[in-house]
Amino acid sequence: VLRTITGFHADEVGDWVAELSCLHAQHVRHDPPFRLRPWVGSEAGRAGHVGTELDCPLCDRAELPAGLELARTAGPFDASTLPAGLRRHHTVATGTWGVLRVIEGTVRFSMRVEPPLDVVLRPGAAQPIPPGVAHLVELDEGTIAVDFLRRPPPPAGS
Ligand SMILES: [Zn+2]
Repeated sequence: VLRTITGFHADEVGDWVAELSCLHAQHVRHDPPFRLRPWVGSEAGRAGHVGTELDCPLCDRAELPAGLELARTAGPFDASTLPAGLRRHHTVATGTWGVLRVIEGTVRFSMRVEPPLDVVLRPGAAQPIPPGVAHLVELDEGTIAVDFLRRPPPPAGS
């Protein structure tokens, strides 16, 4: 999934890490001859790459970023109460991750990541859903809830 670079920070050994719009982070190394990114070493070079795109394999694997907190829970829904918007392809808002939880029954879940994900989820399953990725929930019999997670605001004074 292509994501926008929102900023950079240095890790504990001084390597540069891009912060992505999906709330994942990804090392960006100048590692000739394999990866040529001489710009990453300069502040101007990094600033010039904020707003550009980077492919995020963690989003394709639907790995929940660390450090998110629960913002709200939608549901529980069953087949008769599932909102119409969730019955067709839809996305989670920018800056927010969803976690589909199966409470009862089985749910088919598919998502347009690379490679595409198409799974049958059972009670107890918790399927992370990255922001901005089209996905579909097929609920014939069963009950689900969806948690929405966001990054907590930075502590005051930082
Ligand atoms: Zn990502």
